[in-house]
Amino acid sequence: MTTSAYPVAAPAVPTPPTAYRFAAEFAALRAQAPALRAEDVAARRQRLARLADWLLANRAAIQQALYQDFRKPPEETDLTEIWPSLTEIRHSSRELKRWAARRKVGTPLALAGTTGWVQAEPKGVVLIIAPWNYPFYLALDPLASAIAAGNAVVIKPAEQTPATSALLCRMAEELFRPEEVLVLEGGREVATELLRLPWDHIFFTGSPQVGKIVMRAAAEHLSGLTLELGGKSPAIVDETANLRDAAEKIVWGKFLNAGQTCVAPDYLLVQAGVRDPLLAELRRAIGTYYGADNEAIKQSKSYARIVNEHHFARLAGLLEDAQTRGATVAQGGGLDERQCYLEPTILTDVPAGAAVLEEEIFGPLLPVLTFQSLPETAAYVNARLKPLAQYVFTTSAANRRYLLDTIAAGGAAVNETIIQLAHPALPFGGVGNSGLGKAHGHAGFLAFSNEKAVLRQRVGLTGIKPFYPPYTSRTRRLLGWLLKYL
Ligand code: NAD
Repeated sequence: MTTSAYPVAAPAVPTPPTAYRFAAEFAALRAQAPALRAEDVAARRQRLARLADWLLANRAAIQQALYQDFRKPPEETDLTEIWPSLTEIRHSSRELKRWAARRKVGTPLALAGTTGWVQAEPKGVVLIIAPWNYPFYLALDPLASAIAAGNAVVIKPAEQTPATSALLCRMAEELFRPEEVLVLEGGREVATELLRLPWDHIFFTGSPQVGKIVMRAAAEHLSGLTLELGGKSPAIVDETANLRDAAEKIVWGKFLNAGQTCVAPDYLLVQAGVRDPLLAELRRAIGTYYGADNEAIKQSKSYARIVNEHHFARLAGLLEDAQTRGATVAQGGGLDERQCYLEPTILTDVPAGAAVLEEEIFGPLLPVLTFQSLPETAAYVNARLKPLAQYVFTTSAANRRYLLDTIAAGGAAVNETIIQLAHPALPFGGVGNSGLGKAHGHAGFLAFSNEKAVLRQRVGLTGIKPFYPPYTSRTRRLLGWLLKYL
């Protein structure tokens, strides 16, 4: 055996200074990552099964935490927090064997004799930063993908929903060792400290503004990155649409969670000729779902509150700004600051420049704009930052195709709202200002995996050796043939 004359290289993996907050936790997770990587599919599926069992056993506690945080109706917690989490876990568990298996690829003639495949390997130690609006589901969904892919995970839940954050902490403590899955509560300071560490992947869900901060932090270590952001998602209703059906779905999608949904229809673009009948249907749907008059709506057990005073004041400001500029309150408009209550509200005649048309609303205000022709709607939407979702209500195949083909958006639903994100086989995510990368199902698994591409050559086969130096006239003849035919 010969001894190298060269000094042994320092490990290439950056080690965070021990003075960093959470450096010890990070080191423990990193030490655990190889063991997780070595686990087989059955072990990962067991973790997922434990997670699903915990959700079902703690259904009441989850409902209670969300009710405490912003009076979220328990039925909405079942439908929009627990059920989609279970769907993700079950789908990942069912498909995991297939996703984790080697995927063989065909061999081109020029590389005849070799075999090629792709095998997914865990990225390693990953960070999930979650927002407050679906504080349980938006932590659980990426967690399921990260576990399925075989990673060690830290979750930083949102500080605005403390009851849910505390519950997530308890869940992790009951189900996993801290070096496998760790929940670290706290606000911006904690997130900032965490972002100094060299994560193998960061999965951030939140606003585009904070998304930019996260992207800068990821750049420091060239960490992998998924950004699930927001934006102004339009719902477009043309004159061929079934107006009652459209209104029922738009009202549900808009006022679910009191409008605090990343994929809620932000504003409505309706063909001018059907605006008034659509408004009548929208009012009717609000009456049916939440109550016949202002007081009944306020007492409704089916309607959540705005998460805190800060967001309440922001939304009240948007409403006031629109009214001051001449917008008409076609429905609702009622406010109660003590309860952070904002009635389901529809605004018409909103002038260009009103803040409600400029920033993501993220609350129960629905501005209704009109258009004459489809190209007008495409031009309006495409002149703005790319939305997370696009909703199209039409019975015309030509209109549907036109709107889907001309408008850029992260995803879309036709004659529906919101539920595109509950389909586990559809990748979910934004584009440009509304996000980077995709989540859910296989796309989520891939976000937390490195798709290692492998080429295997058989020992002794010539391969491309005829092209090795020295370069002669024979090499040049062969190259001419290669460029022409292969
Ligand atoms: P936010 O960006 O304010 O906060 C999200 C997370 O980032 C929280 O955990 C918070 O503690 C952390 N954070 C805040 N400031 C930070 C900083 N300076 N540095 C590092 N981390 C920081 O978002 P939010 O108000 O909780 O959520 C609302 C936004 O999230 C909306 O824009 C909405 O559209 C978007 N959203 C997107 C999706 C999606 O799946 N695409 C889902 C839900 C919400």
